[in-house]
Amino acid sequence: MSADPSTLAVHGGEPTFDDQVLPPWPQHDDAEEKALLDVLSSGAWGSTHGDVVATFEQEFAEYQQAKHAICLNNGTLAIAAALRAAGVGLGDEVIVPPYTFIATASAALFIGAVPVFADVDPVTHLLDPQATEAAITPRTKAVIVVHLAGRPVDMDAFTAIGHRHGLTIVEDCAQAHGAEYRGRRIGAIGDLGTFSFQSSKNITAGEGGAVVTDDPDLAQALYSLVNVGRVPGGGWYQHTTVGYNLRLTEFQAAILRAQLTRHPHQQQTREHNATILTDLLGEADGIQVAPPDPAVTAHGRHLFIFRVPALGVAGTRDAVVSALAAEGLRAASSGYVPLHRHEALDREITELTGRLGQPYPRTELPVAEQVCTDTIWLPQRYLLGTEEQTRQIAAAIVKVVAAHESLPRPRA
Ligand SMILES: *Cc1c(COP(=O)(O)O)cnc(C)c1O
Repeated sequence: MSADPSTLAVHGGEPTFDDQVLPPWPQHDDAEEKALLDVLSSGAWGSTHGDVVATFEQEFAEYQQAKHAICLNNGTLAIAAALRAAGVGLGDEVIVPPYTFIATASAALFIGAVPVFADVDPVTHLLDPQATEAAITPRTKAVIVVHLAGRPVDMDAFTAIGHRHGLTIVEDCAQAHGAEYRGRRIGAIGDLGTFSFQSSKNITAGEGGAVVTDDPDLAQALYSLVNVGRVPGGGWYQHTTVGYNLRLTEFQAAILRAQLTRHPHQQQTREHNATILTDLLGEADGIQVAPPDPAVTAHGRHLFIFRVPALGVAGTRDAVVSALAAEGLRAASSGYVPLHRHEALDREITELTGRLGQPYPRTELPVAEQVCTDTIWLPQRYLLGTEEQTRQIAAAIVKVVAAHESLPRPRA
């Protein structure tokens, strides 16, 4: 399919859309306002004095169908704490996907563990179970699976790998609040699940995080890690283990309680619009959207991701993202660079394994590299508009992709 390139906004044509018309993010109303003022006037601003964090922990555990939830200050340290609670430590290898936010790998480094990358699946962009199993060494202690964009990974395969090799399975659920795999909410299907409530996430208090688990011993270990080594019901100066202070404030929990009640309805809207986008983009030439998986009974819909392989070949993906911004899709993004090529991570991993005198398994990850050249993302706010707005978003994408050959190519 060809298109008249002169109609592109980047070439001086009329923009197709204006993303300012979409609902803002984050959203709030009187519920957040009242909850915040209640905490303010109560004088109990920290969770050591109030009970709002504890209440939210119960509500969130229930929401994710987990026995326990422990709140903490962000999704990055949630992963570090989950690994430590599971006994992962100095020199242990943790298998992670290369196509994820940097925190999935840096969290392992914070506790002296070594992130080892295994390749992703070309259709779903998610960690590949076979590649994971091939990356296991005698030093491997854990696997962090990432439900990227909100799409649950193949948990049947990963729980089987965990059992077969005696590995802890941590689910990085930062993008997947409310997502389900075979009818069960994600998070406590593996040993531990970590969440983020940072500004961009589908449930947010600006910052914040949580770890969920069904295992009471892991829950207690997490409580201690978050609370300076204290134990539930123990004394103020009774530090049974060495722990951080990672506590969430009562203000954040007050906002989160309100956000949680709003989440199911927002998810319905995102799911509805994502289905429309999937159909419209799926009909267009050369655009690939991962097909639905019957095991994914609810998608978390944090990002809408699609691939256009021709853009990777031509080297025009970033030019297309700029052209989409000109069309009014200002938040369209090229997404992640592959973490195994990330300079800062590589430096840190090289230094750590050097100090430990430990080999570092470096492998080729061709799928991750490919995916990083031809993938485009839309943030979850783009799924919160009307049907008409959703159709306009699809039209802008189809128009730009069809005319991509008119866009500047990078010099070889
Ligand atoms: C956002 C995110 C994190 C980190 O959460 P923060 O709360 O920002 O520290 C970790 N993993 C993934 C996949 C994320 O998207």
